[in-house]
Amino acid sequence: MTAVPDIMLNDGRTIPQFGFGVFQIRPEDTAAAVATAVQAGYRHIDTAEMYGNEKQVGEAIARSGLDRADVFVTSKLGNDSHRPDDARRAFGESLKALGFDYVDLFLIHWPLPTRYGGDYVSTWKTLVEFYRDGRARSIGVSNFQPHHLRRLHEESQTRPAVNQVELHPYLTQSGLRAFCAEHEIAVEAWSPLAQGLVLDDPEIVSIAGRVGKTPAQVVLRWHIERGDIIFPKSVTPARIKENIDIFDFELSGEDVERISALDRGERTGPDPDTFRG
Ligand code: NAD
Repeated sequence: MTAVPDIMLNDGRTIPQFGFGVFQIRPEDTAAAVATAVQAGYRHIDTAEMYGNEKQVGEAIARSGLDRADVFVTSKLGNDSHRPDDARRAFGESLKALGFDYVDLFLIHWPLPTRYGGDYVSTWKTLVEFYRDGRARSIGVSNFQPHHLRRLHEESQTRPAVNQVELHPYLTQSGLRAFCAEHEIAVEAWSPLAQGLVLDDPEIVSIAGRVGKTPAQVVLRWHIERGDIIFPKSVTPARIKENIDIFDFELSGEDVERISALDRGERTGPDPDTFRG
């Protein structure tokens, strides 16, 4: 198996382009799923305070036999903790649950522009404190639209290293990706498989048949070819292994374009401009 590529972030650090997402994995199932992923070669885990399984992620990594430095771990600030003092407390609690003295990446989970008087800038400036004191090696945002990012750009000296957004063949986010490329913000694609919705698409099924890979592998490879960072979720060991087995083939530029052309602007999750958490 060819190694997972690293992506260089705008703060000079690197992130593995491929990892494992643990949203909707029950706490009691999380340690086993993460252990399977680590054994299969995953070295990047994406969790969040709101997933309720940071503790089990930390335990699985501690038990894996790997050095802490060999696994890239992301967590995210919960929606009820945006006020600076709450954010400071919540970040400490995330570290404690994980059993770590730092996270590799810490994100504002949602911008929540209709809560907290629309002030996600103070929240962002609080994450900058965690970055400066070294407890968050990199910081970024999630579900930020270009106009939210523009405001951070105007009101803070520190750029987010990443923006983690819903992105898959039915929601290709071309405008947001162009904005992020221009501002050197790496794009992370959440629900890279649209939670399975895109796997029966006839175009994807046809390409999969032609290249001798599964529809899931074709979609994940499409993200890799486009340069986005992904962390598909599964609790099924065979799928966990299938999903990382995408570094021994490439899609042609034409196939990448065919999949990109499936865009329907279709979200499976909430609209960041109206979502209140
Ligand atoms: P996903 O697109 O990774 O889909 C996961 C689902 O797809 C699985 O439950 C399973 O039903 C199916 N699946 C996975 N592998 C398969 C395979 N090989 N063959 C067939 N079906 C397969 O969806 P997700 O979990 O929503 O997103 C991935 C990660 O993104 C999450 O675990 C989380 O870390 C992150 N995320 C972040 C946000 C955010 O707001 N920042 C929101 C949602 C998800």
